[in-house]
Amino acid sequence: MRLTVIGTGYVGTVHAACMADIGHEVLGIDIDAERVASLAAGRAPVHEAGLSELLARTIASRRLRFTTSLAQGSHFARTHFICVGTPQLKDGKAADLRHVDAVVDGLAPHLSPGSLIVGKSTVPVGTAARLGQRIAAVAHDCEVAWNPEFLREGTAVDDTMHPERIVVGVTSDRADAVLRRIYQPMLRNGVPYFRTDPATAELVKVASNSFLASKISFINAMAEVCEAAGADARLLARAIGADSRIGPLFLEPGLGFGGSCLPKDIRAFTARAEELGAREAVAFLNEVDRINTRQRHRTVDLARRLVGGEFTGRRIGVLGAAFKPGSDDVRDSPALAVAEAIRKEGALVRVHDPEALDTARTAWPELAYALDIPKACEAADLVLHLTAWPEYRRIDPVGLATVVSRPALLDARNALDEEAWRAAGWAFHAPGRPLRTEPGRVVDGAS
Ligand code: NAD
Repeated sequence: MRLTVIGTGYVGTVHAACMADIGHEVLGIDIDAERVASLAAGRAPVHEAGLSELLARTIASRRLRFTTSLAQGSHFARTHFICVGTPQLKDGKAADLRHVDAVVDGLAPHLSPGSLIVGKSTVPVGTAARLGQRIAAVAHDCEVAWNPEFLREGTAVDDTMHPERIVVGVTSDRADAVLRRIYQPMLRNGVPYFRTDPATAELVKVASNSFLASKISFINAMAEVCEAAGADARLLARAIGADSRIGPLFLEPGLGFGGSCLPKDIRAFTARAEELGAREAVAFLNEVDRINTRQRHRTVDLARRLVGGEFTGRRIGVLGAAFKPGSDDVRDSPALAVAEAIRKEGALVRVHDPEALDTARTAWPELAYALDIPKACEAADLVLHLTAWPEYRRIDPVGLATVVSRPALLDARNALDEEAWRAAGWAFHAPGRPLRTEPGRVVDGAS
């Protein structure tokens, strides 16, 4: 089938390349001419496993091309996926829908009858219905469906090729049939397909993200209680996660969530619920958000204690800049928020990340960066582990102890092997665990 994918950022590039790979003819469209030129040359706009190879393959097959012209897109295909950004409004919690609206307004005058517009962007419930009316004012016999995107950065290509479910919110059998044809290779593999109305599909996405965010904040709230009670949140998480009704995933006490989705999605959900008169129903998400933000402050506070109560003049080595491993995305990165807060208090902070140094440098030019782990930790008074890249689990703590000024580590992701680090002489701290003091060995504000 012929498709356009409008907005070739994280979601759009992956979707366009995957759709081309399963046999469709795809035209990717973006207003960013530089991005379009770079994509046409096969350069992926983001670091994502398998994406560069996929782009090279599908561009070479000529099933994937790129343009900046919506008009060209409307002549090319009758099915159009919208993948533009829906960030948080600068002056509020709600989603900024200006990019989605601009696409629809740009596309509508060129649409031929029978066209299907499929939203993949995460939007407030009711958006598909509103856009449908907007299009109906200028175009004849077109439908707006919603097909939320569930890919996870870091495994985006695999998630698109092998999704856990496909959700489509449609108002007609025709739209349902088109989407079933598009996703046929996945459906043949037994991927569950949920046909809903558009409002339910829009809500599935924000409800999923709200649930995940709540699970993360739940275990972080428990970690705070564990610290107060002298209990161990990691063991607690394992034990409660063994209950099959709860499950172990997303139950890792630590620095909390960030990125371009969970924080803004839960805020937009509360704003939309308020508009709908259902504010109380999701008021708990405000607390989820607060718990999450608190983890960043708590990490800074604990780090300050561990260097003796003041950051001024202290050297801090930071492991991780991306908001999560497997990605070079630093949007609302908890790691960089912590690094920057510590720098502002007068510490000399040097950040390492295996993939996100360029994006981090652009977003946070005030921070210093290092190309390798020893350089980031050179002469450090404290090392902070802030993004759980697998590379950091492979660090030799004995070797790293020789480059730092004091072997003290705060594993804010609760992901490193405590015993191995302690055996190598490190003072090891992690959220949700009792503060252990090592008299005579390291600076420890708790002692
Ligand atoms: P992004 O910022 O990486 O990409 C958005 C792209 O849209 C940019 O390339 C931008 O130039 C382009 N664009 C903006 N206005 C345009 C217009 N009028 N015409 C054409 N192109 C335009 O965003 P993203 O991370 O890919 O997210 C897109 C949507 O998908 C958001 O609603 C997001 O919440 C949702 N989502 C994201 C993820 C994720 O992991 N990134 C996962 C699921 C859902």
